Amino acid sequence: MMTVTVKERALINEIILKNRICHVGMIDTDGMPYVIPMNFGYHDSIIYLHSAQKGGSINALEKNPNVCITFCAEPMLTWQNKEMACSYRMKGGSVICRGQVVFEEDFDEKIKALDIIMKQYTEERFTYSVPSINNVRVWKVEIDRVSTKVFGVPHPNSRNYYKDKPEF
Ligand SMILES: Cc1cc2nc3c(=O)[nH]c(=O)nc-3n(C[C@H](O)[C@H](O)[C@H](O)COP(=O)(O)OP(=O)(O)OC[C@H]3O[C@@H](n4cnc5c(N)ncnc54)[C@H](O)[C@@H]3O)c2cc1C
Repeated sequence: MMTVTVKERALINEIILKNRICHVGMIDTDGMPYVIPMNFGYHDSIIYLHSAQKGGSINALEKNPNVCITFCAEPMLTWQNKEMACSYRMKGGSVICRGQVVFEEDFDEKIKALDIIMKQYTEERFTYSVPSINNVRVWKVEIDRVSTKVFGVPHPNSRNYYKDKPEF
């Protein structure tokens, strides 16, 4: 995995874990870009995803497992001068991860992956039926390359458009 500083690592983890969905980009079977929103789990620099056993994305990934997965912290509109359009900024942070999808076939490992996905959304604990595990496709993406950027760091005179939302 690409080397990042401890500070960058903390920011990357914070942005990823704040998200409810990610966007998974791949190359479809016609060689065209194809991006879908998905739920996810994240643990030890591995992104976990799940889907139906069949579909366009599966066909695409069986041909080319390379993916680019993006996460974006909830953006906030800020401005320095309310009357000047060019002083408006979208403040937020994003993370871009690149890697390859490996489909997990082991029954118990699939359960562990699903637990990690569920943990992203709830503290509840779950049991799974055998058919539900067999019918789900679990994707594991070990991150090969990752980058993060923070945008619209505010000027001291700037204002947050969404005043009720917490600072990023
Ligand atoms: C908030 C959210 C979370 C989701 N989480 C998951 C998840 O965790 N796992 C999962 O498998 N799916 C999830 N989905 C659905 C996902 O985005 C795809 O629709 C789904 O995975 C099927 O993809 P496919 O390529 O196999 O579709 P196919 O059935 O092969 O798609 C056929 C065609 O339908 C169109 N299409 C497919 N998906 C979408 C879409 N999302 N929006 C618009 N057009 C589309 C495309 O043009 C595609 O070529 C989520 C969707 C949303 C909105």
